[in-house]
Amino acid sequence: MGKSNIGNSALITKVNRGLVLQAVRTLQPTYRAEVSRRTNLNPATVTGIVADLLGLGLLRETEGDPQPLGTLGGRPPMMLEINAGARTVLAIDLEPDCIRVGLVDLNMQLLDYSEQMIDRLDEPGRVIDRIVQLSKQMVKGAQPGGIDGAGISLPGLIDRERGILHGSTNMPKWRNVPITSAVADAIGVMPIAERSVHCSAIYEDWVATDEPNSTKLILSLRTGVGMSIMRYGELYVGSRGFDGEIGHTIVDIDGDLCECGSRGCLETFVSTSSICKRVKTMIKNGRCGQVKAAMDRGEPLHPGLIYRLAKEGDDDCAEVVATIGRYLGIAAANMVNLLAPDSLVLCGSIDTADELILNAIKKQIDRSALPKMREHLQVRLARAKERTALLGAAALVARDLFALPRLRYPGVASTNAATQN
Ligand SMILES: [Zn+2]
Repeated sequence: MGKSNIGNSALITKVNRGLVLQAVRTLQPTYRAEVSRRTNLNPATVTGIVADLLGLGLLRETEGDPQPLGTLGGRPPMMLEINAGARTVLAIDLEPDCIRVGLVDLNMQLLDYSEQMIDRLDEPGRVIDRIVQLSKQMVKGAQPGGIDGAGISLPGLIDRERGILHGSTNMPKWRNVPITSAVADAIGVMPIAERSVHCSAIYEDWVATDEPNSTKLILSLRTGVGMSIMRYGELYVGSRGFDGEIGHTIVDIDGDLCECGSRGCLETFVSTSSICKRVKTMIKNGRCGQVKAAMDRGEPLHPGLIYRLAKEGDDDCAEVVATIGRYLGIAAANMVNLLAPDSLVLCGSIDTADELILNAIKKQIDRSALPKMREHLQVRLARAKERTALLGAAALVARDLFALPRLRYPGVASTNAATQN
């Protein structure tokens, strides 16, 4: 056999193994025969691959149905599922005002979790020190074999191959900051870096196994706002890996100055800093009395406080939430008119106001999107809300462990070695 044929055969084995893992992951628990049907691989190939994966500990067998269809009694065949606890992933999510770190298993369940509030104007070095500290603590607690990979979700524009955060409008002090190498030095594993807005989309797609072959818009409301497009399981990625900055699309041509330098961007209505600014003005005008009372008791002014009070029935806070939903709805309606997606998924730090914001977005889409473009549109909340990007960082690693293709970007050389297995 020639060299290229050997290469091809190894690649085919890798692709087939990825197919089998993907089938088990989405169908679990399931039978070998069902995996064969779904992957179109012949039963002998599936049996061989499954034996390898059982040996590697990525799959495990469970007792099957006592009387599965098509059998004539006797011992039922064993079922297969992902051996979720066999691998542990460290996931990190850096948001301009919060660090989240978690240990995650292969079914994307959190085994351990910690978060710390930060100030978006903190020095990058200090923030990285805190990320490193939290990560080291988590890794220490990961027993028995430590971690099998790490993923990090970063805001703004990044160089994912070199793990550098180029900059984020919400974190003005962060300019070309190398971040993954600092974490790697501390934990001994190089994290895979990805933009937060992409991480959120990757996680939503990873868990939404009941929604194959659909086009989804994932709208992420965090310190800023971003949007990703996921079509048939493929993430849309723009030039040099950049896209999704819906927060800097203009919704008011004569609007306020945005932190990006432009005027009237969506973020001037819905970012954390603009929400806080609006509420401060309302307080000056004698409104938002409950917010002021909470602040007088020492609670920091944060959208979470506004959301909670809105949910509790405070009219002024409800008005702020309705405005956020209205502007997000305008931006979403523009995207619906452009792309006619099957669903729009809202994620991020929406806290207790989730339904309030969601309903305001729905109302605005009904007003602003063309009827034919929205008649089959599903608008719903994400499954993990504020932890979506964190779990997406873990899903990046799981994709590698499962030998699914890593995201590649045209014109960017890959320096990531293949992982074990
Ligand atoms: Zn802007």
